[in-house]
Amino acid sequence: MKINLANIKKAKNLLNKRECVAIPTETVYGIAGNAYSDTACKKIFRLKNRPAKNPLIVHYYDLKKLRDDCELNDNFLKLYKKFCPGPITFVLNQKKTSKISKIATNKKKTLAVRFPKHPVARNLLKSLKYPLAAPSANISGNISPTDPYHVYEDFGKEIELIIDGGQSEKGVESTVIDIRSKEIVVLRYGPITQ
Ligand code: AMP
Ligand code: MG
Repeated sequence: MKINLANIKKAKNLLNKRECVAIPTETVYGIAGNAYSDTACKKIFRLKNRPAKNPLIVHYYDLKKLRDDCELNDNFLKLYKKFCPGPITFVLNQKKTSKISKIATNKKKTLAVRFPKHPVARNLLKSLKYPLAAPSANISGNISPTDPYHVYEDFGKEIELIIDGGQSEKGVESTVIDIRSKEIVVLRYGPITQ
């Protein structure tokens, strides 16, 4: 897919100003904000009308940046190698030094993390100094969007930028697993099966 670099730059500028941007991923479109910023995370909850107690998934480019915020273990590293970037989310323990906004996690000590595969999401994440909190780009309770028009239907001009990355390849939310202990628990079924 051809990436519009002007849009990536525009997104980067908005995100650096703690604004939210809708981005394509291979699962569904996400509404993204700086995961280290309380201001940006509050905006995500407000725009979506999402209950504050429902924690956000945080998106990273790779392991390098994740190591700052989370404790990694062997099971996680194995599955990371096999499936990432891809449609799987891991619940891990945060490090004491984690910079993740407490708004994003509702003060949980755990964090749900994902490494999206879509080239636009990857390009953007690579160029930012922080990970992106990005739940699906719909008002809470509505269907998750799989194209940019669908995002516009929910938010209209409330979001300054919706990046068009085509139709989401999977069209369903990521598999979520809790991988903190030896016994892996599936919290949400998705494109990657048990
Ligand atoms: P969504 O609402 O589509 O963004 O999905 C977020 C999913 O990730 C929900 O199923 C949450 O329960 C789950 N989730 C996010 N953060 C955590 C966490 N720290 N621990 C357990 N599950 C989480
Ligand atoms: Mg959702």
